[in-house]
Amino acid sequence: MERRTRDILSGLSLLLCLATGGLWVRSYFAWDKAFACGAVAGDVQRVVDFSSARGRLSVSVERADGFSLGSPPREGARIYSDEVALAPSPPTRLGFAFDKRVASLTYDHTAAVPPKRTTWTATVPHGAVAAIAAVPPALSMAALSRRRAAARRTGRCRRCGYDLRATPGRCPECGTATGGTIAARPNVCS
Ligand SMILES: [Zn+2]
Repeated sequence: MERRTRDILSGLSLLLCLATGGLWVRSYFAWDKAFACGAVAGDVQRVVDFSSARGRLSVSVERADGFSLGSPPREGARIYSDEVALAPSPPTRLGFAFDKRVASLTYDHTAAVPPKRTTWTATVPHGAVAAIAAVPPALSMAALSRRRAAARRTGRCRRCGYDLRATPGRCPECGTATGGTIAARPNVCS
């Protein structure tokens, strides 16, 4: 992978890490939620739900057949918050859980197929997401400091690796100031 692409990816990863950290702290004071609804096709609708509460992040994909349990289909997308006390606490294993739930409305005899709602939910701790997102920026920082140390030892540009022995001060290849030997620059004051 090209270094620039790697830098962008590790920058995005760092943002994800910071955002998850912020959400993590918030999750003990507020139940943050979001959803996005797919269009109704026939009488089937898909909805993606997101929830953040008490150190747990959950993503649910819901498929509602025959207008989910008699209720009208949901519309659009929304981000909102509720009191954290209202958030459910389903059992998890070290904060992780995967759950499939099927609910059906068996008493609606007018429907050809009984209305059914299937919900798949994955739950992970904020800490796990933040830790995984921290790996790429940490590797980038380690690689950068290794490159800088190697550049200092060999007299090469710390950014692009160009040989700077003939042009100390600034890299002619990429323009990076090397902060190197001032004594080698022409002294214009005298
Ligand atoms: Zn350079």
